[in-house]
Amino acid sequence: MRLITAAVLLAAVIGGVHLTGHASQAPPPPQAQAEPADLVLRNGRIVTLDDRAPEAQALAARGGRIVAVGTTADLARYVGPNTQVIDLNGQFAMPGFIEGHGHFTGIGEGKLNLDLMNTKSWDEIVHMVAEAVEKAKPGQWIVGRGWHQEKWTSTPAPNVEGFPTHESLDKVAPNNPVVLTHASGHASFVNAKAMELSNITKDTANPRGGEVLKDKDGNPTGLLRESASGLVRNGAGEPTPTAADADARARRVLELADKEAISKGITSFQDAGSGFDVINRVKSMIDQGRMNVRLWMMIRSSNASLRQNLPVARTIGYGNNMLTVRAIKVTSDGALGSRGAWLLEPYADLPENVPAGTSRTGLPSAAVASLPETAQIAVDQNMQLCVHAIGDRANREVLNIYEDAFKKNAKNGKELRWRMEHAQHLSAADIPRFGQLGVIASMQGIHCTSDAISVLQRLGEKRAEEGAYVWQKLMKSGALVTNGTDAPVEDVDPIASYYATVTRKLTDGRVFYGDQKMSRIEGLRSYTINNAIAAFEEDLKGSLTVGKLADVTVLTKDITTVPDDQIRTAKVVYTIVGGKVVYKGQ
Ligand SMILES: [Zn+2]
Repeated sequence: MRLITAAVLLAAVIGGVHLTGHASQAPPPPQAQAEPADLVLRNGRIVTLDDRAPEAQALAARGGRIVAVGTTADLARYVGPNTQVIDLNGQFAMPGFIEGHGHFTGIGEGKLNLDLMNTKSWDEIVHMVAEAVEKAKPGQWIVGRGWHQEKWTSTPAPNVEGFPTHESLDKVAPNNPVVLTHASGHASFVNAKAMELSNITKDTANPRGGEVLKDKDGNPTGLLRESASGLVRNGAGEPTPTAADADARARRVLELADKEAISKGITSFQDAGSGFDVINRVKSMIDQGRMNVRLWMMIRSSNASLRQNLPVARTIGYGNNMLTVRAIKVTSDGALGSRGAWLLEPYADLPENVPAGTSRTGLPSAAVASLPETAQIAVDQNMQLCVHAIGDRANREVLNIYEDAFKKNAKNGKELRWRMEHAQHLSAADIPRFGQLGVIASMQGIHCTSDAISVLQRLGEKRAEEGAYVWQKLMKSGALVTNGTDAPVEDVDPIASYYATVTRKLTDGRVFYGDQKMSRIEGLRSYTINNAIAAFEEDLKGSLTVGKLADVTVLTKDITTVPDDQIRTAKVVYTIVGGKVVYKGQ
């Protein structure tokens, strides 16, 4: 049998060569019509990220999967009477973007609340709150998110440590409680009414891992750092919504997030920590056909609840590969901007004498103490572990805990694919450990350029150069580096994050340690196949390969070749999930 097959193949090859040689005289033999595809994309510039055939012009999908990739002429045989044919007119197509670390419900919530992402001053924020108060009922909470003091063009007056005081908000919102979350999610700002309803007073002590910022007289200023945000009783004083109203709102939040993701060219989204309730709601939305983007979700819950609920909640490829739940999320420290990241050495911009109760090196979160137990649960339940670690101390401690868990269970990191979420600032000694241990560095390109100025202030130049956003150093150590935006901390736009990844260019034109930037293809891999690997999904996603899911993003520009300054002007033309166009750009 084998011999016959080989002989037939050989004849076919010889025949092929012969015919090609005479192509100018005779047309090539008509290729047999294939089973028609549901969708054919043709005349495109397709980057597949599949090394066996890195470039193509056309792609055919059937039953949600890729059935052929090749030239436009080759794939003509997949076009049948009911095939949707899209002429790409030379536009750029790539494996669908995979957001590697975002907060799905946070994106949806952001759409329902005041969006402060683009505000340039505290006055502007106060103005927006005043407008919201006019439309609100008395006593209704005004909720906003996305402010960032580094983006302000002037320092508020008066201020404490550069932050405004609550009186400015009280003037426009005397009867409405206001809570405005920092873009990082690691601090919030409240007015007097919100403090009154939350019982935050002069006597309120700093909770563990947090700070109620006070003025020189000991009065709370309104700024709540890290875990102190947990003191806010959002919604207190308002009538409790009915269960049906709350559920309808929660579903609306998921729909808004879904719409936002697909409009940015995202075909899969890795959610960085939701509760079991959210996961159940997502499942029912998938059953109802109300979700377009594929989700891979980390669970955030107590150890006791994880042990109890994981055996039922763990799921792979639910609803035709729309949802996978196989990871646990834990937070080990705060953010650099709010000086909540846990460092080995003190913050460069904190004075020697800080007020009692504040730490010069940042603090671990309360979850660090129970992390070894969480790690064991992850091994026992065959879950990935994903720990938020930003400062070099947090990264070191978490690597130590991972290493202990690997040893104790005779596993290596490459089998378990545990991840370090953010891995923003590393001690030189710990960088090679990512590659050695097989720990995935789940990073966000856009954070590098948004935070560069504050990183330099908080860490000083030496530490910033040595260990901040060291993508190349990590990759050279053999580590997998993934990409994302941490939305709603940043806009979920992968193109902006990709631009930051391949240029490290700040808005003022400066480049933040350019030797660590990724090449265009490295950057594209970090946003596609690397994220797929970091989720055990490389057989399904991350490259345009026959047999994988037909998840494709089409852009107006080839972001692998256009000059740097044109990358950000690329627009999404189509977002295709499972061979279906779920978003079409204007
Ligand atoms: Zn996050």
